[in-house]
Amino acid sequence: MEKHFIPLSVPNFSGREKEYVNDAVVSEWVSTGGSKVAEFEQAVADYVHMPRAVACNSGTSGLHLAMMMAGVGRGDEVLAPTLTFIAAVNPIRYAGAEPVFIGCGDSLCLCPTLAREFLEQNAVVRDGVCVNRTTGAVIKAIVVVHVFGNMAAMEGIMDLAAKWRLTVIEDATEALGTRYTEGRYAGKYAGTIGDIGVYSFNGNKIITTGAGGMVVSNHADWLERAKHLSTQAKSDELNYKHDEVGYNYRMTNLQAALGLAQLEQLEGFIEHKTRMYEFYREKLDGKHHYRILPFREGVRSNHWFYSLYVEDGHALSRDAIIEKLREEGIQTRPIWGLIQDQADYPKNAHYGTQLARHYLERVVNLPCSTNLTEADAQRVADVLLSL
Ligand SMILES: *Cc1c(COP(=O)(O)O)cnc(C)c1O
Repeated sequence: MEKHFIPLSVPNFSGREKEYVNDAVVSEWVSTGGSKVAEFEQAVADYVHMPRAVACNSGTSGLHLAMMMAGVGRGDEVLAPTLTFIAAVNPIRYAGAEPVFIGCGDSLCLCPTLAREFLEQNAVVRDGVCVNRTTGAVIKAIVVVHVFGNMAAMEGIMDLAAKWRLTVIEDATEALGTRYTEGRYAGKYAGTIGDIGVYSFNGNKIITTGAGGMVVSNHADWLERAKHLSTQAKSDELNYKHDEVGYNYRMTNLQAALGLAQLEQLEGFIEHKTRMYEFYREKLDGKHHYRILPFREGVRSNHWFYSLYVEDGHALSRDAIIEKLREEGIQTRPIWGLIQDQADYPKNAHYGTQLARHYLERVVNLPCSTNLTEADAQRVADVLLSL
């Protein structure tokens, strides 16, 4: 019998999705008007213990709004990770600014120690702003990505940002539900610790609206501006008055309907992902030159993506392993290419990115859907152990 295909990560619509989307269709509120957008905003805000959230049509647009809220503009610089999905970095360019790439630590997230070293060697705080002594540009902000749902080292990041006067933008697109359980930020969710946080509801994320995003912030006035910018910056509904250049970035009622049903299941999804992560770890960690990379201690992680680390002693290369799994109907993928190697970013500065390259060459993401069964995970492990 032909073995069934095991995908990397697919959506799970086993809740009230059809009912809520049908409500939206029946009500004829399918676009950016309609009550479900506000309902979903409040539900996400409540979930992450924030007073308010602003919904938008993707994580990428949310990050662009975040850049504008943070006042990142033409000629500024922003510290950003090199080991990430490119949508964490492109919005810096949309805002007319330039990224400076910083390497990661063993968490795969931007390393605050490397960022500090870069700043100590290259920057100075002058009149309350951080200035790059080499380029003369203002370093306005730092973008931190909670990679694969793992919490970045936020204590170090926040200390650094306070000292160097940087606005902290958390790309929490992969980390909805991840929160500290210990330490200075115990109880705080990824995305709610810095100045602004952004979630994504793209099809591969832990919950999905097809495409969608959400912005949260500790600055209430910034959120008001984000909503304004996302709705064409219309200041007079009736007379079409616009007070600045806005965007069509608002979430639709259909997307929000899907999101409300998904959010009801989020804690169940996290439980399942955590259980399957532990299953892989038991089967593979420390065996056959494999390691399953850990999530940060003192954190309840959402366990969005699992990272299989292939040690150098393994007989096969990372790509050969991915290919063997593919032949067995198992979809996996390598980690992203470094952003400093993409598009025209090679001309941007980068600092301390060797470890990022090390992980990039050795990490494979394993199937992690919220409906992955133990039998499927066992099949993945069996193939890996046979290589
Ligand atoms: C998914 C993702 C984004 C972008 O979100 P979209 O909703 O797909 O636009 C940004 N950054 C990271 C790290 C992501 O994984």
